[in-house]
Amino acid sequence: MRIGALEAGGTKMVCAIGNEKGEIFEQISIPTEAPEITIPKLIAYFQEKGIEALGIGCFGPIDLNEKSETYGYITSTPKLKWVNFDMVGTFKKALNIPVGFDTDVNGSVLGEATFGCAQGLENVIYITIGTGVGVGVVSNGKLLHGMQHPEGGHMLLAQHPSDTYAGKCPYHGCCLEGMAAGPAIEERWGAKAYDLKDNMAVWELEAYYIAQALVNYIYTYSPQKIILGGGVMHQEQLFPLIREQVQKLNKGYIVTKELQDIEHYIVPASLHDDQGIMGALELGVRALKNA
Ligand code: ADP
Ligand code: ZN
Repeated sequence: MRIGALEAGGTKMVCAIGNEKGEIFEQISIPTEAPEITIPKLIAYFQEKGIEALGIGCFGPIDLNEKSETYGYITSTPKLKWVNFDMVGTFKKALNIPVGFDTDVNGSVLGEATFGCAQGLENVIYITIGTGVGVGVVSNGKLLHGMQHPEGGHMLLAQHPSDTYAGKCPYHGCCLEGMAAGPAIEERWGAKAYDLKDNMAVWELEAYYIAQALVNYIYTYSPQKIILGGGVMHQEQLFPLIREQVQKLNKGYIVTKELQDIEHYIVPASLHDDQGIMGALELGVRALKNA
């Protein structure tokens, strides 16, 4: 099997060619500009590669309802040039092969569940904390869609009593993305997140917000594993702080073997930042199987 994979992000497009075992033969990255500039470059890359299907993990919001007339479109994104862009239709027409399509974070959770630390688990969540926050969910072995797709990055949170920061999210202020994404850290503390490594107050507060969201995901999705990725989570000191806060907020309400072994329950992404592209590969594999 020779499959194309595209991780479509707001700043860059990662393209790869691989197979059903998650082996990547080649990979390139192209900056994301307007569709009329970027899309022809992507098509030119995939056209000559002899691929049998393409999988796309895409920034959103996107339309995942296969019965909808705008299935496969990017919908109401703040990246205005991409609003109502037909991703699936464009690649299907140009490449004439099956195209699998899902959110970037559903791609990442699929990558981890297929090739990474969540293999064999049927209920897994992946949270990326970077420029924004996104949550991908595998529930009973399937990627969770629903009305549109989960937007767990905007989980509404209770503000810490000593925190006066208004929040970066233009919609909610105090949601997970508004309080804990990279730009929120940088605006609140007035420095680059990676320069704040030694400031414990930064990471205590960060863990307080992330843990609130995690407890809510635990109570609603009942995941067997929680995987945290994205630029901010490169601050590894966050993991013990988050685990401690989760236990504190849970107050012993849920008692499971997973929570008792929390070091193996709340874990970093395991695929060296390739979880998204490997998940896109699996989306392509599934599209071919279902064609
Ligand atoms: P994106 O979300 O755009 O795909 P990233 O996941 O790398 O990309 O997220 C970028 C954000 O993460 C930036 O806001 C930056 O401040 C933050 N970030 C990146 N690397 C680190 C790091 N090593 N430590 C803390 N924050 C980081
Ligand atoms: Zn929000």
